[in-house]
Amino acid sequence: MIIIMRPGAAKEAIRNITEQIEGKGLQVHLSQGHEVTIIGVVGDKSKLHGINFEIAEGVDKVLPVTESYKLANKKFHPEDSLIQVGNTSIGPGTLTIMAGPCAVESRDQLLETAFAVKKAGANFLRGGAYKPRTSPYSFQGLEEEGLRYMKEAREATGLRVICEVTSQHAIETSVKYVDMLQIGARNMQNFELLKEAGKAGIPVLLKRGLSATIDEWLNAAEYIMSEGNADVVLCERGIRTYETSTRNTLDISAVPVLRSRSHLPVIVDPSHATGVRAYVPPLAKCAVAAGADGLMIEVHPNPACALSDGPQSLTFEQFQQLTDELRPYAQLAGRKF
Ligand code: PEP
Ligand code: MN
Repeated sequence: MIIIMRPGAAKEAIRNITEQIEGKGLQVHLSQGHEVTIIGVVGDKSKLHGINFEIAEGVDKVLPVTESYKLANKKFHPEDSLIQVGNTSIGPGTLTIMAGPCAVESRDQLLETAFAVKKAGANFLRGGAYKPRTSPYSFQGLEEEGLRYMKEAREATGLRVICEVTSQHAIETSVKYVDMLQIGARNMQNFELLKEAGKAGIPVLLKRGLSATIDEWLNAAEYIMSEGNADVVLCERGIRTYETSTRNTLDISAVPVLRSRSHLPVIVDPSHATGVRAYVPPLAKCAVAAGADGLMIEVHPNPACALSDGPQSLTFEQFQQLTDELRPYAQLAGRKF
């Protein structure tokens, strides 16, 4: 339920309501807009039985929130969120470009890629140190050694760095080295991992599950947020369909759908969505035109020799060409990068 206050409602009126709600053991989420304050209520509503907030001082109206996700819900927070990651922000007016190899393979590979993507305009370096591979015999990642290279690349370039985490141990280790955690598609409904990420104290990028509905995805974001971490960014990375020409099917409609249901920033990963290098640039442009807040793109110094996801990785030249071509799209969408 949300309680919408009248424009300019007095602080005491807001406090009176929040105290009543908290007094019943429920949580309050305040969204203070320019004029209107919205009081969001999280918890068992039946405990508020008998209290008529509609006639309380300063209240305009009371509306039910039927969706099970509350903190991630646009009704709780009508303004789009701008999420701060170090000196960078993700959200309205910006275009975040996260680029880098699928997996951190060596110090040289990572540093070389970091300088190349920075030169082309990326503001985040991505790179997996814990790789959730389909086969247990595939390269599983350099783990902490990979994280050390990520930190070194961050210090050398000034880029923010993001790494996927696959376990509680990976979270505890990663927070020492990176600016943002990534929960991958395969773990989108690993609820224990989501809760741990919610306690990690740094922003989290939550990828959409392979076959997850938007509703399930927003509930997964709610798991992270309900642990006290409001800094969640959603990443559409393609879903399973019957189509086999691409690795997954990019659900571009997820961008405006999420925009209407949630205040959280949305970025798009055309690399994992298509699995094919040639399809990455057109879909990257499409994502910006659809209103995405950013992109995640795999880039490798020599994709033919990549230990994972070579076929979808761009070379440095291809990535530079893509960012050059993206600039007018970004400008039209009112975003800077
Ligand atoms: C990745 O970003 O390297 C990755 C494994 O992506 P996803 O979880 O979307 O498959
Ligand atoms: Mn990958």
